[in-house]
Amino acid sequence: MRQFDGDTLVLATHNKGKVEEISDLLSGYVQSFPTAATLGLSEPEETGVTFVENAIIKAVSAMKESGLPALSDDSGLAVTALDGAPGIYSARWGGESKDFKMAMTRVHDELGDNPDRSAAFVCVLALAWPDGHIETFEARCEGEIVWPMRGEQGHGYDPVFQPKGFTTTFAEMGMAEKQKLSHRGKALRAMFDGCFATRKRA
Ligand code: IMP
Repeated sequence: MRQFDGDTLVLATHNKGKVEEISDLLSGYVQSFPTAATLGLSEPEETGVTFVENAIIKAVSAMKESGLPALSDDSGLAVTALDGAPGIYSARWGGESKDFKMAMTRVHDELGDNPDRSAAFVCVLALAWPDGHIETFEARCEGEIVWPMRGEQGHGYDPVFQPKGFTTTFAEMGMAEKQKLSHRGKALRAMFDGCFATRKRA
């Protein structure tokens, strides 16, 4: 697997929640990680039909516009009884105004009284180098949909997602606890093991 040996890695996302969680773990490995938003990079249309395709679209777009290596995150909530929805459309269920209370209410309404509340968060990271080389990492966190929403922390669908084996939602946990078990935390650790293995932790 290609090793990352640069000092700067562009975070190919405009999502503040993702930036906070990725930065928290990445800071041990990379000196500088400007975001797509701070660099004024465009947000490409997510035309892929899988998390992997969309992650690659975002990483390659940021890498090409900046000329620097770029790391993207494509993620979402897959609800079993909704055939995996909202899935890659998780952000789009929040609409233009990114209203995730509305999106969580939609999940609750569409589930109705279905006894199967199981769901998983999925995260695919894509790391793209300026020479076109790409590595991807995928991870999941299994859990269930709870109602009503609980907790004030985190972002997106965190208030309705309770990971397996826990009695608190992601939004009721501190970031450190969420990072230990979340889809994003796991995918980041897989990336560190794969592409940052030879790098001394800062
Ligand atoms: P995208 O990867 O930009 O398509 O957006 C993924 C969407 O999935 C986010 O806007 C959130 O709504 C949701 N999502 C992804 N990861 C998380 C998480 O850790 N907590 C809550 N919601 C998440």
